[in-house]
Amino acid sequence: SHAIAEQIGLTLANIQLRDNLREQAIRDPLTGLFNRRYMTEALDQCYSRAERTASSIAIMMIDLDHFKLFNDNFGHDAGDHVLKAVSQVLIDSIRQEDIACRYGGEEFCIVCPSTDDQQALLIAERIGKGIRSLELNMNQLSLGTVTTSIGVAMYPDHAKTMDEVISIADEALYLAKKNGRDRVE
Ligand code: GH3
Ligand code: MG
Ligand code: MG
Repeated sequence: SHAIAEQIGLTLANIQLRDNLREQAIRDPLTGLFNRRYMTEALDQCYSRAERTASSIAIMMIDLDHFKLFNDNFGHDAGDHVLKAVSQVLIDSIRQEDIACRYGGEEFCIVCPSTDDQQALLIAERIGKGIRSLELNMNQLSLGTVTTSIGVAMYPDHAKTMDEVISIADEALYLAKKNGRDRVE
């Protein structure tokens, strides 16, 4: 009847609303990547699975090089445009089961379950190359190119807790900056 159809319609609308709210709670609005809160939760699950199956996890911290200068030269909108383009490279460079997150302003984190150090370095180099190769344009204006520094750390090789692995990836990122940027450590 009409009443039943109406009820089904309302139920579907509620499901849609709930899904939208859930998506908003776990995604960064600018880039569509997962947010940091979601990544922290997902990391707990990855950790449990890795412990149970004695597999490794790679963590990558990725930071755009001299991005303040980029904003100063081209403006904040152009900066936002770059953040979206970079995010697309991240998504295109990882597997379905990996988690790409916007960790902070121009900093990203990638979690790769069941990945060894050699594979992790290959993925990180692929990301670095993908971003370096972007020909950035906005409204017919060429924005030149951007580069990234990437720090990689492994569970359980480098530390036994995820917080510690993140810290070590951060230290590796700092080293990549110190050693001249546009590189993986
Ligand atoms: P480094 O190579 O050492 O990382 O230099 P940097 O300039 O990238 O580092 P710094 O931390 O000094 O600057 C980060 C800049 O990122 C500052 C800020 O303007 C920019 N930024 C952060 N979040 C956003 C954002 O959401 N949009 C835009 N357009 N810029 C952002
Ligand atoms: Mg930076
Ligand atoms: Mg930064």
